[in-house]
Amino acid sequence: MANASFDTVDPSHLALAVYPAAVLRARALPIPEVTEKVRGVAAAMLEIMRAEQGIGLAAPQVGLSWRLFVADVPKDPKAKQPKGEFAALPVHTDGPMVYINPVLTKPCGPIERFEEGCLSLPEIRGDVIRPPTITIEATGLDGKRFTTTATGLLARCWQHEMDHLDGVLIIDRMMEGHLAKNKRLIRELEENAAFRPGR
Ligand code: ZN
Repeated sequence: MANASFDTVDPSHLALAVYPAAVLRARALPIPEVTEKVRGVAAAMLEIMRAEQGIGLAAPQVGLSWRLFVADVPKDPKAKQPKGEFAALPVHTDGPMVYINPVLTKPCGPIERFEEGCLSLPEIRGDVIRPPTITIEATGLDGKRFTTTATGLLARCWQHEMDHLDGVLIIDRMMEGHLAKNKRLIRELEENAAFRPGR
């Protein structure tokens, strides 16, 4: 599955890849063209993301080494509102979004700690440090490039999903003490992998 070509994929057969699946550690490949197949994969990914109650999902998490992720970051009434120069920036999406061949630029603001989880690392949670504000440039389903700057949870989601496209997971970035607390769960996932179907 990890190197499935862009044409032979069946979007109706995608399933969540769980750590330590090799596809989660690969550097994903650019998508040459936004085809019907790519649109089908994006729609299937949004469905899987919703079923798993996630706010973002990257293609390697469904076994595809493609530079593509989806996100649907809801408005969080408890989230602190960005201030100053970032006050006007979005912190959530307005519905589902698809980002093809994304590039992140211009990280800014003092780095922040925030607890993250990952659908491919069930039950594992811990604080990850990231810059609070970032700009994304990506291709949409219409094949056109777009650029947006965000902060808060949306900026964090982009950075988490972007990491997936480079084979990076939250356990690589998690603060030392939090990682230590998750050691047993990580080891269990590694041990259970041999018994998981489809590997
Ligand atoms: Zn993740």
